Amino acid sequence: MPCLPWTQTRPSGPLQSRRSRFFRRTGTSAGISRRHLPLTEGVAMGMVRDVFFQTGKPMKIHHLNCGTLCPYCEKLINGTGSLIKPARLVCHCLLVESSEGLILVDTGFGTEDVQQPERRLGKGFMTAMRPTLSRTETARVQLDQRNLDAKDVRHVIPTHLDLDHAGGLSDFPEAAIHVMAKELAQITHPDVRDRIRFRQAQFVHHPQWAVHQDAHENWFGMPAISPIPVLKDSLKLVPLPGHTKGHMGVAVRGENKWLLHCGDAYFHRGQIHGSPEMPKALELFEQAIQTIPQQRRDSLTRLQQLAQRHGDEVDIFCAHDPVEFDRLAGNPSA
Ligand SMILES: [Zn+2]
Repeated sequence: MPCLPWTQTRPSGPLQSRRSRFFRRTGTSAGISRRHLPLTEGVAMGMVRDVFFQTGKPMKIHHLNCGTLCPYCEKLINGTGSLIKPARLVCHCLLVESSEGLILVDTGFGTEDVQQPERRLGKGFMTAMRPTLSRTETARVQLDQRNLDAKDVRHVIPTHLDLDHAGGLSDFPEAAIHVMAKELAQITHPDVRDRIRFRQAQFVHHPQWAVHQDAHENWFGMPAISPIPVLKDSLKLVPLPGHTKGHMGVAVRGENKWLLHCGDAYFHRGQIHGSPEMPKALELFEQAIQTIPQQRRDSLTRLQQLAQRHGDEVDIFCAHDPVEFDRLAGNPSA
């Protein structure tokens, strides 16, 4: 699919990482430029990639919390605990080690958000959601902690472009940023509400957008897109509009099950599984920030049906539920 006219690509210098461990060649179905990739390295490393595929090695998936939010009233946000204490919400991201380099699904907050919170996130968000904004929670620093190189992040797939999902894009300026066309239009041609909602300061570094439009594939009965052709059997975009216009889920094949990162298509595990009941304040918040209410409800219905019909094959989770995160990240409190 060709790039839209406002899709931007930006060349960069030679790869210099001593720790680089991945083949550097980018899929082109979304019109991603290869100009910034040194051809000789691509040829030289091609055999490595082929060997990788012949071994059938599964992709390695890390669950990262790239931002903790502590709005007031644990009981009304998390559903349990105190009316006085703050809640705990996470920014659940995936870091995928693949034959096409590292892939990041959602970014949470980035290092620049931590350095300049009011400019990047705005006073209103800071006051209402009370993010902890710890540098050690950013994906950039968590890569370092795992001895992985940020330059190896070749693809970033934000479920949508809200500030708590796209803040880390500027930490990976060489990566292709996969978005739905309708999502990108909200920041390139914003209406009045979009101007308030989306933080232009998070996009001034000119991300290398890889824009997707129509979902023609079928993934467990849901429309889907393969954003990286060579990973078509293990990575899918699943449009879930409503929260924003181009909101999507991202499906990644794990060792035993698919994982479906649903972003903000829902906020509480009870919405998918029927219990526990969704906390009231969280429900009001979800409705207050939805862009297209009927589309959001339809997306949620499709996810509920997916869980009922294919729950043994697909593990469904959202961006902010801390219980889902702790379970999948293997935290002791889970
Ligand atoms: Zn969010």
